[in-house]
Amino acid sequence: MTGASRGIGAAIARALARDGWPVGVNYRTDRDGAEAVASEIERDGHRAAVLEADVTEVGAADALFEALESEFAAPVLVLVNNAGISADDLTPSLDDEQWCSVLDTNLTAAFRLTRRALVPMLRARSGRIVNISSVVGLRANPGQANYAAAKAGLIALTKTAAVEVARRGVTINAVAPGWIDTEMTAEVSKQLLEAVPARRAGSPDEVAACVRFLASEEASYVTGAVLTVDGGLAA
Ligand code: NDP
Repeated sequence: MTGASRGIGAAIARALARDGWPVGVNYRTDRDGAEAVASEIERDGHRAAVLEADVTEVGAADALFEALESEFAAPVLVLVNNAGISADDLTPSLDDEQWCSVLDTNLTAAFRLTRRALVPMLRARSGRIVNISSVVGLRANPGQANYAAAKAGLIALTKTAAVEVARRGVTINAVAPGWIDTEMTAEVSKQLLEAVPARRAGSPDEVAACVRFLASEEASYVTGAVLTVDGGLAA
């Protein structure tokens, strides 16, 4: 579970723990947040491990999987690629750093983690990968060309990899949230909510409920899908 120190990732970590999964709570800078999430999971009688890693670093996928395999003494059979950042500007003003950091975090890291996760999953003929994309990967949002390209790329990665491994018992799906109340959207003008048919922001728990389903045994025939969680925004 990448980027689980707050927001949507923290909600997903708690939801998967309630389903009985031992959870790796990854963070990059927010150690206090990650430790609070892990403590809450443990207080409820479930297992969690706090894992510091910047997922954009080349060796991060191997390091995270090795740490989890040794902590829980079992192969990792669920991966949620949630870590994400945005760095907005209109296209003529986007600089290389804004472009590369957003692509590296939201897309390249998810690719490296997926590649590493598939090794034990294909061996076990069982696995679930859920990628947190965005409605912005499906429809335009001015000022987010870098983020949109990353999230649309993540959907293309999801569909292609899903088809490659479908007959081996591994599913790969994407969730595309709309406007969810987290730190990422704290500065966005609430006026934009008028464009959301539900006329409200979603909660991290509403996204987590969808991820929980896609990670479950019951979702065994759902693969290569994109589930929007957006109050009707992309409909
Ligand atoms: P937040 O900014 O609240 O949380 C982001 C999380 O990602 C934090 O835990 C952060 O950890 C972690 N993270 C960021 N960069 C890295 C990195 N390089 N390595 C490891 N962890 C990292 O965001 P949200 O909860 O809102 O977003 C979660 C996901 O959902 C993202 O992929 C986002 O793009 C997506 N999304 C969000 C929407 C929204 O409306 N909020 C809508 C659609 C999609 P730390 O602080 O420790 O760096």
